[in-house]
Amino acid sequence: MAGHEHVRVAVIGSGFGGLGAAVRLRRAGVTDFVVLERRDSVGGTWRDNSYPGCACDVPSHLYSFSFAPNPDWPRNFSGQEHIRAYLEKVADTFGLRPHIRFDSEVLHARWDTGALHWEIETGRGTLTADMLVSATGPLSDPKIPDVPGLDGFTGKVFHSARWDHDYDLRGKRVAVIGTGASAIQIVPSIQPLVDRLTLFQRTPPWVMPRMDREISRAERWLHAKVPPTRALRRRMLWLIRELQVGAFTKHPAQLGLVEKLARHHMTKVVKDPVLRAKLTPDYRIGCKRILLSNTYYPALVKPNVDVVASGLEEVRGNTLVAADGTEAEVDAVVFGTGFHVTDMPIAQRITGADGITLAEAWKDGMEALRGSTAAGFPNFMTVIGPNTGLGNSSMILIIEAQLNYMVDYLGQLGTLTAGSGGRAALDARPEAVRSWTDHVQRRMARTVWNTGGCDSWYLDANGRNTTVWPGTTGEFAKVTRRVDLAEYEVLRAPARAGQRKAEATR
Ligand code: NAP
Repeated sequence: MAGHEHVRVAVIGSGFGGLGAAVRLRRAGVTDFVVLERRDSVGGTWRDNSYPGCACDVPSHLYSFSFAPNPDWPRNFSGQEHIRAYLEKVADTFGLRPHIRFDSEVLHARWDTGALHWEIETGRGTLTADMLVSATGPLSDPKIPDVPGLDGFTGKVFHSARWDHDYDLRGKRVAVIGTGASAIQIVPSIQPLVDRLTLFQRTPPWVMPRMDREISRAERWLHAKVPPTRALRRRMLWLIRELQVGAFTKHPAQLGLVEKLARHHMTKVVKDPVLRAKLTPDYRIGCKRILLSNTYYPALVKPNVDVVASGLEEVRGNTLVAADGTEAEVDAVVFGTGFHVTDMPIAQRITGADGITLAEAWKDGMEALRGSTAAGFPNFMTVIGPNTGLGNSSMILIIEAQLNYMVDYLGQLGTLTAGSGGRAALDARPEAVRSWTDHVQRRMARTVWNTGGCDSWYLDANGRNTTVWPGTTGEFAKVTRRVDLAEYEVLRAPARAGQRKAEATR
């Protein structure tokens, strides 16, 4: 990386968010940008999560970019390797590779108030950028609970998102910690291999049947030859989810019927009343993410599986001890304990106009105008920012909506400086951020995520839901279509020396 390189836009991360941003920038005619990636390949969470059984539980025809349709999705719910390959292909098809800087972890980014740009220090040098777009995503930094005694464990330990494929689980006594979306895919995949599997379940999840099937060759042929059929399929998948969301956001009582279906899904397989009792949730379905699996319960009733209905509390030598005192001596521990979502580590590395980091600005909870921009952090936006997550649909829809906002943001900056030769930045007004946050939290009050009687990663340390969008994806697309300048303070600076010279010679 050149010592004093300057770009118009620097994007952090090359998962769905970062690659999508790169495509949208190119399409908007912006070619002066880089994508900074800490690892050596693209794919983000779909590169990092390679655990056995990893797949997406949003149908692939919806969980993909609208501008990069893939008629060849092999299944309703594609596996990790297909999604990762799709993202590699997006990088090639849209000519993104020249923009991507691999092994370039962002160590720090600091807003320079005088120069109106971001100074970015990466693992491979520094650069400056007019705009910084953080697309690290909420599922990028694994969270391992601070369990006393874990350091003294002499067996193998890894997190679901850092699977050690060199470690052979065959014949081993393995503990899986957690029962989230990752763990319930891991358990049935490794149960046939291991000698003994002990599952530490702090809270039982609601699990629904997984309506997965192969997409036939005829369907794929049709989607390739008659693109409107593919578009129609996507539209239908989208519409069903748009219609469902009201039950989560406004009428959680309607979810009782779904609970019945989920309970039946469990009791059909689990005949032992003691195990049934352990696996029955005591909160409203949807409060935590609803999990989809046809293989989870069948794995739990196998003779080599023990379900400990209690969280992991301590490790003594090679023995894991649950909060209820249950003990299990194991050879390996797999943590399916999720990610740093409400305390995104990247926020500690971004310092804004007031000299404080984003993490400090968000110490009482994350908040951003339209899920994107934070007061005191000019020309900076987060893709999948605060309150943009979804409980039941495709995050790619949210990402694309935010990327519209990003393109409009750059367009507004261009308009503000047109003809003047100067530079401009937009800083979200604190009162606009507050009013947006109040509006979101008001709507959040009656959602199942807040009223369903559970503790989930949607809630931050203060119990505030700073992750989920309490509406439809259509509504979110509407509120991010345009940047409203009234919500921003416009900062101005004269042209940079090099820029002034370039403009004078035009
Ligand atoms: P997660 O949903 O945050 O689940 C973490 C699990 O670890 C929870 O069951 C939690 O229990 C448990 N846990 C934490 N500390 C524990 C302890 N000391 N002892 C026992 N259990 C403990 O994480 P995830 O499963 O990795 O999923 C994260 C998100 O990734 C998902 O919600 C989803 O958005 C995405 N994802 C999607 C898919 C898919 O599409 N199929 C697959 C994987 C991941 P509590 O419930 O009690 O907190």
